[in-house]
Amino acid sequence: MEKLNPFKIAQEQLDNTAKLLGLDEATHAILREPMMEFHFTIPVRMDSGKVKVFRGFRVQYNNARGPCKGGIRFHPEETIDTVRALAAWMTWKTAVVNIPLGGGKGGIIVDPQKLSDREKERLCRSFMAALWKNVGPFKDVMAPDVGTTAQMMGWMMDEYCKIQGECCPGIITGKPVEMGGSLGRKEATGYGVIITIREAIKRLGLRPQECTASIMGFGNVGQSAAINFVRHLGGKVIAVSCWDHKDTTSYTYSKNHGIDPEFLASITDQYGSIDKEKAKDAGYTVENGDAWISKDTDILIPAALENAVTKENVDNINKRVKIIGEAANGPTTPEADKVLYKRGIFVVPDFLANAGGVTVSYFEQVQNTYNFYWELNDVQHMLDQKMTKAFGDVYAMHKEKKVDMRTAAYLVAVGRVVEAMKLRGWV
Ligand code: NAD
Repeated sequence: MEKLNPFKIAQEQLDNTAKLLGLDEATHAILREPMMEFHFTIPVRMDSGKVKVFRGFRVQYNNARGPCKGGIRFHPEETIDTVRALAAWMTWKTAVVNIPLGGGKGGIIVDPQKLSDREKERLCRSFMAALWKNVGPFKDVMAPDVGTTAQMMGWMMDEYCKIQGECCPGIITGKPVEMGGSLGRKEATGYGVIITIREAIKRLGLRPQECTASIMGFGNVGQSAAINFVRHLGGKVIAVSCWDHKDTTSYTYSKNHGIDPEFLASITDQYGSIDKEKAKDAGYTVENGDAWISKDTDILIPAALENAVTKENVDNINKRVKIIGEAANGPTTPEADKVLYKRGIFVVPDFLANAGGVTVSYFEQVQNTYNFYWELNDVQHMLDQKMTKAFGDVYAMHKEKKVDMRTAAYLVAVGRVVEAMKLRGWV
């Protein structure tokens, strides 16, 4: 299959929106490219004593609404175009949930599973040492994403504080709770996905307790989505898939009467790989990685990487599927999107569905600034309010303009960014 360029997809999506909003040439041109990019080399002394040089990127896409905000990925196949696309989607994400932030994203080409803990720490510290001048609580704030953890955010924060000579917890979010992280941040993205799915279920007149779901990916987001689908909606998750780094292929783990997500999480490593043997011993059926998409289920939740639903596999989606909650960033290609639309499947688009993570990151920054920390209930209540309001805004646009939910989300988000750009006098 031809490798799809996520940034070209992000630009295409923006071009459609620009037409619908009737944007002038200059506004469209600013929104089509990142405002600023950093490309750098990161030398790291490995445990062997040799120095290995890694390549890293940080893209600051747009800061009209506030400081750039976005995660950092450690992935062996990271590319600048993936980071650009993710940074663009962050810009629309912060706008759609209406928090006062812009969009950014970072990445390092590395397989973190091949590094020891000490090597990971040195890599995180060197990354921050290369970037510190160009990031900051009022400039650009990073967070975890695929391949990165709260501990890594802690090392990066510590390095920044050492360079600055003062305590600056607001430099990064998704930190361990013990050093300024927010309660509820780790599970916020998956929890937010389930809030938007709850709203979609309501609008379609379904009963959540009767709904089933199949999920691709069982890392931070997939696990939290699965657990909250069962815990908060009372639904059943019948399958989850993950990448098995031991034999470099992916598998789907299923049970007809529903999986136990908390049990599966307990036999999953920090990279989201389920222990196949333990799952089999517990009675799980293990199928090939693609099996998740063809399950007889009401809801699909792609929660792994981009380009998961493509023109090659979209027809494998079961007739029963009514909702797709895009937990991952960019999981559906434009061709597959058209097929979903024709089939009448209700898509909760990525930058709306997975905005829970950045929303609680924003709460984390607020708590860091006040140096006063909230209870979990307060965080979850405020997250629910923000996500429900964002879903409502997009749904209203979808009805008013008679467009699909993705187009509606773009109209709401890009419209807000354009408004800020105008008020700043940029266009
Ligand atoms: P993660 O690294 O914790 O988990 C990724 C999961 O996907 C793992 O279970 C991995 O095994 C699985 N996977 C990878 N390739 C696969 C394949 N081919 N088939 C099946 N499974 C596969 O990452 P995460 O933080 O859970 O992020 C998942 C997605 O959600 C990404 O698109 C990320 O950008 C997006 N996202 C994450 C956050 C966050 O707060 N972590 C916020 C917003 C969006």
